[in-house]
Amino acid sequence: MPDAERKYENLTACFVALICVLSTAQEADSFDLGDDARASFASKKYPADLPSRAIGTATCGCLAGGKELRSDSPYWQIMRPSRNRIWAHPSLIGYIERLGPRAAKVGWPGLLIGDLSMARGGPMPSGHASHQRGTDVDIWLTPAPRHSLSEKARETLNAASVLKIDTAELDLSIWTPAHADFVRAAAQDENVARVFVTPAIKKYLCACKDKNAADTNWLRRIRPWEGHDDHIHVRLKCPEKDPCVEQEAPPEGDGCGEELRQWLAKTAADPPYKSKAVEENPLKEPFALNKMPAECIDVLNAYP
Ligand SMILES: [Zn+2]
Repeated sequence: MPDAERKYENLTACFVALICVLSTAQEADSFDLGDDARASFASKKYPADLPSRAIGTATCGCLAGGKELRSDSPYWQIMRPSRNRIWAHPSLIGYIERLGPRAAKVGWPGLLIGDLSMARGGPMPSGHASHQRGTDVDIWLTPAPRHSLSEKARETLNAASVLKIDTAELDLSIWTPAHADFVRAAAQDENVARVFVTPAIKKYLCACKDKNAADTNWLRRIRPWEGHDDHIHVRLKCPEKDPCVEQEAPPEGDGCGEELRQWLAKTAADPPYKSKAVEENPLKEPFALNKMPAECIDVLNAYP
């Protein structure tokens, strides 16, 4: 064998040996059932190199083969990119790609996208109880500007509440018919299971619904929930064939009757009304990975 080739062979052998050492080190670093679930999932910056699957429930689950939502499109901009909560099941990426042009058509200039999921889903150390399996996204109720926001602006701009200060009522100097059209468009997609909004938004949508319209399914999907006054939270149905646990469907009907009345009474009597105050992570106590679906350990331990 010529010298040059022998050198190449030796180098290749060294390289292979190095890879073996590195992968052994990686295995030694594997997660087990007793590890803290939030810290374990938060430590993974890249998705599991596995086929895409949404696993478990939105509040106790994880994401295999997550896909990154690209940071810019003519139709959306990602906010708080430093959080690295930009990962989703492909069905959610597809939803955002459909919603962008549809929202533009009804006069909403662009989507400001908040949190999706962490790289492998799972429970977040802060901010949400759900968003764990790549099927949930927050979209701001602030329309996007025409220009591309700077990195600094994406980290520092705040979403504006649509509620009047210190009330649970819509501020009609902020809330516009375009807001309503945007929320309707977000809920009209057949893949949507729920859209969480502050109860005053549901009240507005109920008041202006077309009484003759045959399709009120979208209104049924709009779910009043405290917080959600500066963003909407969209949850998709489980992707077909995934080991994903579907939440019970919202009650029959458009949800504009007694249930809404109860929510309005509850929120009116229960300050604070706003997302910043309400949306603290209720998962305060540490909990171990053994509380999660077994497949989530494989997701954590998968390459890379
Ligand atoms: Zn959310």
